[in-house]
Amino acid sequence: LANTLTSTIDPNLVLNSQTAQAIAVIGDRWAFLIIRDVFQGINQFEPLLKRSGAARGTLTSRLKSLVQSGILYKNPYQTSPTRYEYRLTEKGLNLGAVVLNSWIWETRWAKDDSIPRVLFHKTCGHSIHPNVLCKQCDKVIHLSDTSYAIASDTANIERTTPRSQRRSKNPDISGEGVNQEYFHVLDILGDRWTALVVAAALFGMKRYDDIVSAIGISTNILADRLKLLVNVGVLIRRPYQERPVRFDYHLSEKGRDLFNIALAMHEWANRWLIKDSSEPLQLKHSLCSGRLESKIVCDQCGDVLEWNQITPKDPSLSH
Ligand SMILES: [Zn+2]
Ligand SMILES: [Zn+2]
Repeated sequence: LANTLTSTIDPNLVLNSQTAQAIAVIGDRWAFLIIRDVFQGINQFEPLLKRSGAARGTLTSRLKSLVQSGILYKNPYQTSPTRYEYRLTEKGLNLGAVVLNSWIWETRWAKDDSIPRVLFHKTCGHSIHPNVLCKQCDKVIHLSDTSYAIASDTANIERTTPRSQRRSKNPDISGEGVNQEYFHVLDILGDRWTALVVAAALFGMKRYDDIVSAIGISTNILADRLKLLVNVGVLIRRPYQERPVRFDYHLSEKGRDLFNIALAMHEWANRWLIKDSSEPLQLKHSLCSGRLESKIVCDQCGDVLEWNQITPKDPSLSH
C-alpha cells in the first residue's frame, strides 16, 4: 500500500479501515488465544483455561463476549447437569484465514511450541506450505503489489474507538532485550495499540507525527510500541534528516509479511462487520488491476485450503 501514499494522509484512514474494525473485535490477547485454541479443537472451559493460562473470570468474560459477537456459540454436550462447550459459528469459522495466515507467519518468524510446526492437507496427504494468492489472477500476494481506494462517502461510517484508548493504564511493553523469535502474532493482535501501529505501517505511514494523527495514540505509548517493533525486527528505524537528526520507521520483510494477516482481517470485516456493503476501503491488486481478494491454496495440490481439511497429524502414519 505504501507506494500509493504521498504526503497527504487521510487522518481517518487507519481507524476507519476494515482491519481496524476487526482489531476492535478480536484484537485482545485472550480472545485471540481462545479463537486459536477452539480452531485446534479445544472446546471446553477447563482445557481452554489450562492452555490459555487466563484467570477463570477473564476466560468467562472473554467467552461471553465472543458468544455475544457471534463468533462462538454454546453447545450442550452433557445433560444433568447441563454442560456446554464452545463451537465456532460460521462467522467464527470465517476467521480461519486469519488463524492460518498467523500460523504461516509464526512458522516463518517465531518459535512457539503451542502451535503445530507442520500441517498436512488431508485431501492430498502432503505437508503444506500454503500459498496466499489473488483470487483474480492467481499470483502470490505481496504488499508492494497492492493499493487502496477510500470510499468517497465515509461520513456515515461508524468510527471504532479502540478499547485501550479508553483505558488509563498502558503498561510499557517495549520489549528491551526480547528475543525476536519469541515475539508472536499474539503480541501484536493482543495489544490494540501495537496492532494499530502495525496497521498504520502497512498503510505506508513511516513518521511519528503521521502515526500519531492517524490513530490518536499518545506520544509516550507510540514511542514504547515503536521501540518494541524495532526490537523484535518488525520495523527498521532509519534517519531521514540530519541536524536535528530525525528517524522514520520502515517495515522489514518480517513486518511486510504481516500484511496477509491484516488482509484476512479486512476480508472478514467486509463480510461480517460492514453493514450495507459500504466498504470504507477497497483494496486493489496492481498485477491484475482487480479487486484484491485472497485465497489460501495448498502448494502441493493447488486446492483451496479449507480448515476442516487441515490436520497436524501425518495422514500416512494413521491406520
Ligand atoms: Zn490479482
Ligand atoms: Zn494438497
